[in-house]
Amino acid sequence: MNKGGDTGRSTKQRYLDTMGILRWQLREPSLPENVQQADEETGVPALSVSPDGDDAGQEITEIARLDWDALRSRVSECTACELHTSRTQTVFGVGNQNADWLVIGEAPGADEDAQGEPFVGRAGQLLNAMLLACGLKREQVYIANILKCRPPNNRDPRPEEVASCEPYLMRQIELIQPKLILAVGRIAAQNLLQCDTPIGKLRGRVHRFRDTGIPLVATYHPAYLLRSPAEKRKAWQDLQLAMQVVREAAS
Ligand code: SF4
Repeated sequence: MNKGGDTGRSTKQRYLDTMGILRWQLREPSLPENVQQADEETGVPALSVSPDGDDAGQEITEIARLDWDALRSRVSECTACELHTSRTQTVFGVGNQNADWLVIGEAPGADEDAQGEPFVGRAGQLLNAMLLACGLKREQVYIANILKCRPPNNRDPRPEEVASCEPYLMRQIELIQPKLILAVGRIAAQNLLQCDTPIGKLRGRVHRFRDTGIPLVATYHPAYLLRSPAEKRKAWQDLQLAMQVVREAAS
């Protein structure tokens, strides 16, 4: 509710209100002391993608050379996994190709499959609000998913689907060279970090994305936050940590 005393509130506060985060929670978090040991503690390995066999290796090598237009075109025609049979269209990704922030989610849902854009619908609106709370418009970041095609009935991605689709995301990461990867949701975080650690233990600390060294912060998926608004406070802590990482990378 907008009370009289709120007329002078900041843009950031308005978006925090949208997220459902209370004012008293607006405190600078201290960087976890164990940031550097995060991977040891969670058991997250620092691995790089390795192709399965010569054909896969050649495919990955080809994809790794594509520019944005060729990559988008390649994805739009992709039939590398069975998800191509049920998709309406591929969902390549959207945003600033020179972004500091790369937001990576799980896979397209029904809205995304229909519109061809990641994070639309209610969850997308909440993600936009989360970004605005960080001072970022949606167009300033790049948003992508682990999978470019919608799994039927929104089931979890299968390992072979993730493996087939990963070269596209890896190329996007290489082209963008973000200062930060924000992994939203369990599926994104676990696949990017190649572990099965619960999201509650992956969030709240800084990881490194495999051998790229790019800082990675994991947080809850907006769709989960819509169902569990009490967790928004933790998501805001994660975003503050992410902002701190980008600030430090720029200094
Ligand atoms: S999910 Fe990825 S690998 Fe599978 S068909 Fe779609 S673009 Fe290709």
